Amino acid sequence: MTKFDPASNIQDLLQFGEFGDVNPSITDSATYTFMEAKTMVDTFQGEEEGCFLYSRHWNPSNKYLADALATMEGTESAWVTASGMGAITTTILQLCDSGDHIVSSITTYGGTFAFLSNYLKKFNIEVSFVDITKLDEVEKAIRPNTKMIYTETLTNPLLQLSDLPKLSEITSKHQIKLVVDNTFTPMIMAPARLGADIVLYSLTKFINGKNDCVAGAICASEDFVKAISDVNTGSAMLLGPILDPLRSSSIHKNLHTLHLRMQKHSANALYLAEKFESVRLRVIYPGLPKHPQHQLMKVFMHPEFGFGGMIAIDLKSSKKANTLMEKMQEEGVGYLAVSLGYFKTLFSNSGKSTSSEVPEDVQKSMGLSEGLIRFSVGLDHDIERTWQKIYKCLKETKII
Ligand SMILES: *Cc1c(COP(=O)(O)O)cnc(C)c1O
Repeated sequence: MTKFDPASNIQDLLQFGEFGDVNPSITDSATYTFMEAKTMVDTFQGEEEGCFLYSRHWNPSNKYLADALATMEGTESAWVTASGMGAITTTILQLCDSGDHIVSSITTYGGTFAFLSNYLKKFNIEVSFVDITKLDEVEKAIRPNTKMIYTETLTNPLLQLSDLPKLSEITSKHQIKLVVDNTFTPMIMAPARLGADIVLYSLTKFINGKNDCVAGAICASEDFVKAISDVNTGSAMLLGPILDPLRSSSIHKNLHTLHLRMQKHSANALYLAEKFESVRLRVIYPGLPKHPQHQLMKVFMHPEFGFGGMIAIDLKSSKKANTLMEKMQEEGVGYLAVSLGYFKTLFSNSGKSTSSEVPEDVQKSMGLSEGLIRFSVGLDHDIERTWQKIYKCLKETKII
């Protein structure tokens, strides 16, 4: 595989505004004029390239961000949406008809799990949930009407790594799609280069990194982006989860610092993971040699960006988890909040928050303990100082 350098690819893009502005102009318009009536007709029929018709279809500001994301992922094209869930639901509803079937990892983002297990019933679309690390189990679940395997590169919240090249062998063999949510590992992993057909993002998290808006993206082939934006049959065009261009412009600027932020998130997370391990807590972090897929991750990742900013520790009981989280917030470690990829550290009890859509018996069967605290480690300048605060909290709450 040739060296893939997502950060340099973004850096090399020449995207500037209509007056030579170094940041692309913001197109603050819902509709666009045409000099000739015929051009409008051709644009509607998808025969005129480079023309903008209406901002639910395409908006130039969104196109700049989408082009930058496609460059980052190495896909032909991309589309940006008003939320990560907008990207996920648009993709699934485009690929599946009523009566179809999906094979999905059981550990996914809670909203995704709820959409797959509850909402798709409306369309008579069935979903088989599997342990995505057990490839035999994955392949056995495929039926004649299966349309896709759905997974996350690093699953939420248990941080299991999907073996994308192996999964893509399975999807190619059965001529179905491999759809991958890469929200936890931008820059670190390039799923499309490892065999994914469609790469999804919640831009809300690391990519934007400021926790000031909700947004999403679909990185895919030119054909797929054309299909979702088709005026007659496209799920993006017809369901309308369109990102506001003011927001896409600000996310686009933040994308240019993503490579630096990912390095710092990863370095800080590895530091804390090793410290948690040193005080004999159960830690889940793919950068630790004892993580079951540590070696596999090393094969797939871009090493300069590290193992990511997410850590989970297991305190066994939700009472202990709550006590520690409240204490850590008091001591200024970060915020007791859902979400991730922020410049400050965020922590939450997964079973009772971001995975609360997953029924308790299913949580148990997938190994999600009620005492699991998920950390999104921030960009702290002095991480040893942060550890000292956490250590004090662990002592004072008698967890260690
Ligand atoms: C947050 C998140 C989503 C949903 O994204 P929104 O922007 O909140 O709609 C999907 N997948 C993962 C892994 C997430 O963390």
